[in-house]
Amino acid sequence: MRSRNWVSLVPYGLNEQHPNNYKDIVAALWENRDNLGYAWRVLKDGCCDGCSLGTTGMHDWTMKGVHLCAVRLQMLRFNTMPAMDWHLLEDVAPLKSKTEKQLRKLGRLAVPMVRRKGEKGFRRVSWDEALNIAADGIRAADPHRVGWYLTSRGLTNEAYYAHQKVARFIGTNHVDTSARICHAPSTAGLTATVGCAATTCSYSDWIGSDLIVLVGSNVANNQPVTTKYLYYARKAGTKVFVVNPYHEPGLERYWIPSVTESALFGTRIADDFFQIHVGGDIPFFYGVLKHLIENNWTDREFIASRTLGWPELEVKVRGLSWAALEKGSGLTRADMLRFAQAFAKARHAIVVWSMGITQHRYGSDNVRSIVNLQLSRGNIGRPHTGLMPIRGHSGVQGGAEMGGMPGAYVMGFPVSEQNAKKFAEPEMWGFEPPGWKGLSATQMVLAAGRGEIDVLWQSGGNFKQTLPEPDLVARALGNIRLRIHQDIVANPTMLVDPADTVLLLPTRTRYEQRGGGTETSTERRIIFSPQIPGGPDLPEAKDEWEIPVLVARKLDPQSSAKFFPWKDTQDIRSEIDRVCPTYKGIAALKKKGDNFQYGGPRLLVDRCLTPHGKGHFSAIDLPEEKVPVGRFLLATRRGKQFNSIIHAEVDPLTGARRDDVLMAREDAEKLGLRPGESVILRNELGEFHGRVKIDRVKPGSLQAHWPEINVLIPAGRLDPSGVPDYNATVELHRV
Ligand code: SF4
Repeated sequence: MRSRNWVSLVPYGLNEQHPNNYKDIVAALWENRDNLGYAWRVLKDGCCDGCSLGTTGMHDWTMKGVHLCAVRLQMLRFNTMPAMDWHLLEDVAPLKSKTEKQLRKLGRLAVPMVRRKGEKGFRRVSWDEALNIAADGIRAADPHRVGWYLTSRGLTNEAYYAHQKVARFIGTNHVDTSARICHAPSTAGLTATVGCAATTCSYSDWIGSDLIVLVGSNVANNQPVTTKYLYYARKAGTKVFVVNPYHEPGLERYWIPSVTESALFGTRIADDFFQIHVGGDIPFFYGVLKHLIENNWTDREFIASRTLGWPELEVKVRGLSWAALEKGSGLTRADMLRFAQAFAKARHAIVVWSMGITQHRYGSDNVRSIVNLQLSRGNIGRPHTGLMPIRGHSGVQGGAEMGGMPGAYVMGFPVSEQNAKKFAEPEMWGFEPPGWKGLSATQMVLAAGRGEIDVLWQSGGNFKQTLPEPDLVARALGNIRLRIHQDIVANPTMLVDPADTVLLLPTRTRYEQRGGGTETSTERRIIFSPQIPGGPDLPEAKDEWEIPVLVARKLDPQSSAKFFPWKDTQDIRSEIDRVCPTYKGIAALKKKGDNFQYGGPRLLVDRCLTPHGKGHFSAIDLPEEKVPVGRFLLATRRGKQFNSIIHAEVDPLTGARRDDVLMAREDAEKLGLRPGESVILRNELGEFHGRVKIDRVKPGSLQAHWPEINVLIPAGRLDPSGVPDYNATVELHRV
């Protein structure tokens, strides 16, 4: 009998556009054929280094059965590929024309190298010379002019902790991770309203919840195994709503390869789509709230006992006109009522969001509007309820919590004079870190453009491609006297000509580190990943955490022997256990499968973590997107890629090519454009040559792939938390 959740009776959805996961498995086998045994052990024993759902081997804590996806398979090559021929880096000119993918495919960085101003390429140096160059450059700089950036892929909690502690030892708080270009608004919005920045529930809460709302989050692409969670949730009766400007095909239906029924007939994911304007989230959620208030569907008891700020919010919401809410959201009052009715009927609901919410200049306010909605129905702290800023990278959660941010030494200790004194005590760090707040990654690059940064340490990261206005970024990086790139492969940012010196330091992957390492998943689970022997032969690569420590030892041997006495990652875990109360228990994680979920399955059960224990409503203003006549509002999107690492030229979920510009049929018809026709998108910053793809985007808006489209995104437009607004207004011209 045909199930209501099936997509089609055509087996494997052969007549539909969707990823072919079996092909991905074969491709991964082929790509890793020179080290298949090791690749298998990484999959079997390691904690996934892809997104932040978190695994131990190929299992998790949410469902039985296999947990594996194409993202992980495509990332596998990072861990198995052999060393590159480092002589290739002796002349960077031929490398500059290569794409990120071509550079990556050259292999692993193998030896320390340096390039001085005026030199055509890098020269091999010993580790001792490399460490001296780094130490001399840092010593010569005012700590206020030293920046530190840590990527969110592959690094362990121990590496984040070591790096940021060294940075603070040197005297700078300009420390940041790539969490800052994705979820910093979630951190800001959640901390201000409920007192914690982490997801408040567990993935297992999805299964059996009455309603899951996905907002600005394409989980089918970025966290593919969530589709399996949604499959089980729908089997248990959960409804799924999607709030997004694009009718994401992967959220409409998916073929889950490891579930026979779904692999054969597909699974419908969303019960309802709410196709808002780009940036229409706040008016939409205000509209829903207005219906809840007007129909007396809010949870008055919860509001009275557990929250503050409701009267102000209620006055604000009642005062908003439906006309303004409809114009801002792009949906009708009746659409908002449809959502409100289901939301009010749901005994429990979970809201899941990501970059579609955060990467706006009002990203923190977007998050507050989600919190308003959930608090109005008491959807926190109970089973199957919660706030979930789902993280896209395995290091995002732990990186921020281990102090890889400008505003905190470690979780629970924001940067302040008072906390700096606390960290100076012998049972903490024993030295006083700076008490001033540092810059976010984007702000560091803008500061470099003004000539205010002398040293930038980048552990991973590829700013030239990931940040808005790539030319401006390249010029800014070219101003920095000493750039230190600690990484596993080459990328285009390393090839930006030196103002004085560029250092390349080869590092080990998380699976190669002595003593293994831990990561923290979106659901606050700290998971141990063991060292996996048998990796590529890279005798000169060093552990991620060890490299900054070696530089610290060059800078001040005596003090650093005292402050960084670690022999391996177990020593670092023991220290984290001591100084970060939330991570108490991490020292006991020693073997595959060891894990714990800090705070338990749910946070905010009895009280919020704000100073007086209450959740705060926020009477935020409606944002205004001014789109000049004749222009479109352009939003950025991801295809088959992991951050700036592009895995395929065509997104198997949408069928879009990398240069496709997604536009609504009615807009294309108005302009007389046909599918595949060449167009130019243009604004004050530059132009982008693309091709029309008629798709289900909101009329008046366009979508194009990031990072290619960064040439049109303004660099200085940031959310107060420092995250760039990855949207722009553009003209569209036929070629
Ligand atoms: S969904 Fe995420 S955690 Fe799971 S296998 Fe894929 S990349 Fe790894």
